[in-house]
Amino acid sequence: MAQLSNQLLEQIVEDSLPYASDGEVRPVIPMYDDTKKDVLGVTVWTGEEYFHAGRTDLYVPMQSTAKIVTLMLALNDFGKKRVFDMVGMEPMGDFFNSIGQLERHQTEKPFNPMINAGAIATAALIKGGSVEERFERFMEFIRQITGNPDLVMSEEIYEAEKSNGARNRALAYFMQSTGAMIMAPEEALDLYFRTNAVMMCTEDFARVGHFMANEGRDPETNIRLISPEHLRTVKSIMLTSGMYNSSGQFAVEAGFPLKSGVSGAIIGAVPGRMGIGVIGPAIDAKGNSTAGGALVKSLSNELDLNMFGVIEHEL
Ligand code: GLN
Repeated sequence: MAQLSNQLLEQIVEDSLPYASDGEVRPVIPMYDDTKKDVLGVTVWTGEEYFHAGRTDLYVPMQSTAKIVTLMLALNDFGKKRVFDMVGMEPMGDFFNSIGQLERHQTEKPFNPMINAGAIATAALIKGGSVEERFERFMEFIRQITGNPDLVMSEEIYEAEKSNGARNRALAYFMQSTGAMIMAPEEALDLYFRTNAVMMCTEDFARVGHFMANEGRDPETNIRLISPEHLRTVKSIMLTSGMYNSSGQFAVEAGFPLKSGVSGAIIGAVPGRMGIGVIGPAIDAKGNSTAGGALVKSLSNELDLNMFGVIEHEL
């Protein structure tokens, strides 16, 4: 097993970068053009030491990585029973923004909180008197768990999410028709679009992963911000659905909870060991960073991070 070091990460970045050519940057993200295609950066945070390689200075929108933060808040606010009355916990074989699944499976609720429909329904379970108040609570929570008080939402990305939101609107209104929405669709969508537009760098993503990989404590005050049971729930769903319809492959090849976003960000939470933050903007058809995905698999191999690895006992 290799030793975690900047050098190891640099080697993995170099080996993974060629996979960027298998993906495309998402053109509806305003700051993304082809100059971002060959970008890859990673930060690993062990709680004691940071390790970095590649482009770690870039700030990108959270996009779907925000779905795990929304789920944590919803669980804190309403508890497991209420949350999973509204959204399932089963993996889905369709694309992350699939509409067909909402009707085909004759269920009033979306499959899980890691796909768009599920996250829009879950956003409605963040408490607050208005969208502004709910989003302020989201920001407060994300600033707390990353220990970064400077995190902000990009107005430009938020506007782009709104103007390119036809598919998400379709999902929200369809869910309203089946009773899966407990909030006015436009309000839930507004909150969802805002969460997608929060800007982070690899270090911030790694800090979210580290928070989840450990006891869910505020890095400054050490106060517990989420119960162990809720953390376990979110990480289990990340393992089965965090990489959409590639989650099975990532469970086999990486073997720890991951969440991706179409900005090419990936958050990894290796229980008890480390948080991983990756940015590689070129994504595949399923919405996962191609170079970033190669990177987490290779890191898992090198450092033996697969949670299901066999421990050999001496006879
Ligand atoms: N903003 C994107 C959307 O709503 C987020 C999806 C994603 O990151 N997979 O479609």
